[in-house]
Amino acid sequence: SYSVGEAIKNWDDKRREWLRVHPSFGVGDRIVLVTGSQPSVCKNPVGDHLQLRLFKNKVDYCRFHGCEVFYNNVLLDPKGTGFWAKYPILRAAMVAHPEAEWIYWVDSDAIFTDMEFKVPLEKYKDHNLVVHGWWHMVKQQSWTSVNAGVFLIRNCQWSLEFIDEWASMGPQGPAKEKWGETQKSLLKDKLYPGSDDQSALIYLLLKQRQKWGDKVYLESEYNFQSYWLGVVDGLDNITKGYMEVDREMGKLRRRHAEKVSEFYGEMREQNMKDKGMWRENVRRPFVTHFTGCEPCSGDYNPTYTWEDCWNGMQKALNFADNQVLRRYGFVHPDLLNSSLVTPLPFDFPA
Ligand code: UDP
Ligand code: MN
Repeated sequence: SYSVGEAIKNWDDKRREWLRVHPSFGVGDRIVLVTGSQPSVCKNPVGDHLQLRLFKNKVDYCRFHGCEVFYNNVLLDPKGTGFWAKYPILRAAMVAHPEAEWIYWVDSDAIFTDMEFKVPLEKYKDHNLVVHGWWHMVKQQSWTSVNAGVFLIRNCQWSLEFIDEWASMGPQGPAKEKWGETQKSLLKDKLYPGSDDQSALIYLLLKQRQKWGDKVYLESEYNFQSYWLGVVDGLDNITKGYMEVDREMGKLRRRHAEKVSEFYGEMREQNMKDKGMWRENVRRPFVTHFTGCEPCSGDYNPTYTWEDCWNGMQKALNFADNQVLRRYGFVHPDLLNSSLVTPLPFDFPA
């Protein structure tokens, strides 16, 4: 059978033993976020600048939530390029981080746009792979039924075997030409002609559901990842909403200096519950994914312009950065102007 490198056996026992002799690591579900990009300079002149900002966003998210982050920019398997590069890295990260219960793969072109949102790990306690998607769409054989750019995968033997099965459909595997055609005939809306990892995942969910399905959680209750085109236009309104909150907060803070963080908590809870127009507007999408924009190569999907991608990424990055900057007392008032910041209208920290 195929394996991404030498097959690893009994990983669950080995990991359990490691945790037994390193008891300080045993508490809580640790996450290691893994992301990366190509080994060479980006072809697109602004590509490396964007990669830096995209990485900063992930570092900030991890700082907020106490997770580790690993950025990989080498091809561990020279045949596994592009989106296939992540599978050998995931496997290596599992073995290198026995302390981590979860490996969180986040594509470089995916941006955390709600920095405060904590992934509800408790919900996934009986699952090993969490992906954004819908089972009913998987059954309808749609290429967009899941997204393979952002996922949580448990550090366990099941995952190592799943990764081998998954990556065996790629250029690392023994029959790469065949897989492109098989996927194309299975998924009518698949555009890319070759074998891709998203199609490979859907193939496994359809054809080997018995074997893997019960350990795969398709998340659709919140924006585990969302397609950027549906998100970026709404970010300005959410920013306005939050700046309004900031002004109200300023007034409130002057009245009850010690009550501020409590008030923020209440605001957030109300936002989640209340379906009112304004509150709907301030709900932040968790992860915004710039699928198709290819910031590094610049080979964007021709159904939109590069300017759409660029502006969208600036908006999402500045929107996310506002949640970082507010802690330092500043804000980007205009999401399209990355260099402009103004002090918040009241004293911080809150
Ligand atoms: N990637 C990598 N090494 C490479 C090329 C790509 O780690 O040499 C990663 C990078 O994080 C990228 C992801 O693979 O975001 C998937 O590719 P892309 O986002 O372009 O696919 P899309 O989401 O547009 O389908
Ligand atoms: Mn992507």
